[in-house]
Amino acid sequence: MTDEPDSQPTRRVIVASPRGYCAGVDRAVLTVKRALASFGAPVYVRKQIVHNEHVVATLAEQGAIFVDELAEVPQGALVVFSAHGVSPEVRQDAATRRLRTIDATCPLVTKVHHEAARFAAKGVPIVLIGHAGHEEVEGTTGEAPDDITLVQSGEDVDALTLDPERPLAWLSQTTLSVDETRGIVEKLRARFPQLLDPPSDDICYATQNRQSAIKQIAAQSDLVIVVGSRNSSNSVRLVDVALENGARAAHLVDDSGQVDPQWFDGVVSVGVTSGASVPDVLVDGVLARLEELGFPPAVEDRLVDETLSFALPPQVRERRQPRPPVTGHWVTGR
Ligand code: SF4
Repeated sequence: MTDEPDSQPTRRVIVASPRGYCAGVDRAVLTVKRALASFGAPVYVRKQIVHNEHVVATLAEQGAIFVDELAEVPQGALVVFSAHGVSPEVRQDAATRRLRTIDATCPLVTKVHHEAARFAAKGVPIVLIGHAGHEEVEGTTGEAPDDITLVQSGEDVDALTLDPERPLAWLSQTTLSVDETRGIVEKLRARFPQLLDPPSDDICYATQNRQSAIKQIAAQSDLVIVVGSRNSSNSVRLVDVALENGARAAHLVDDSGQVDPQWFDGVVSVGVTSGASVPDVLVDGVLARLEELGFPPAVEDRLVDETLSFALPPQVRERRQPRPPVTGHWVTGR
């Protein structure tokens, strides 16, 4: 775009909307804050509450202690399960160790757990599309470990040895690429004609909206910046989606400090978005950095309004009556 035949092209920054916090992340972060306020530090959190370094560091400053395994939590202490969910084995382990627990698993992850348990109870084997080692995949697999086979790619579908004459169900991680997952499901259906779909989409509304929003601006962007951490599945997918939909380059940054001025030689239009675990203050920092580098204030491209919110876990909901004293052994059920 040019103002005059020989003038410089007009630089611009478009920021995608929806971006940033989803309802599940908002609930999980608020759960830890409320737990700290109500019960005092330390509050143990199994794994990162959400996959964002800044969020975790901020909660740690306030008294949260992040652990990889429950064995690191002292007996009787309070522990929060992260938004990505846990397997029944972890819940049992917490009960055995007499830990007090608060479950911050996103309800949309819990929905996938229930789907897995229901298919398994009917004797239907399940193909779970997801990434090996991701906490959500470990939690879902734990619902029916003998009935679930993980598939990460089309090649994995080719390698499946399940009986093509028998019904088979597919489920997915909530934060995958919509397009890539569709391709894997098509391949599954071609090999397994009796393939059963999940009752509703497993890739959650927030993942879908953020991918649709970045698709809308990627084609107009020389370069896309995705704010998010490297271990955030949905943030990494946003980089892939931007590149697949017309962006010439796309970079994942934790914050404005990782924005490299050398990226912008010859760049006229920049698209910006953020993963579902990213607070907006980090996006604001990136937009301010772009202004320092000579770009104008950003214009927002809003695809859809998000209004979903989830109730907090019962232990940290605000109550009219005084809360009973926290003593003894209480473990959340599902
Ligand atoms: Fe829940 Fe989706 Fe957010 Fe994950 S990305 S916490 S599944 S709403």
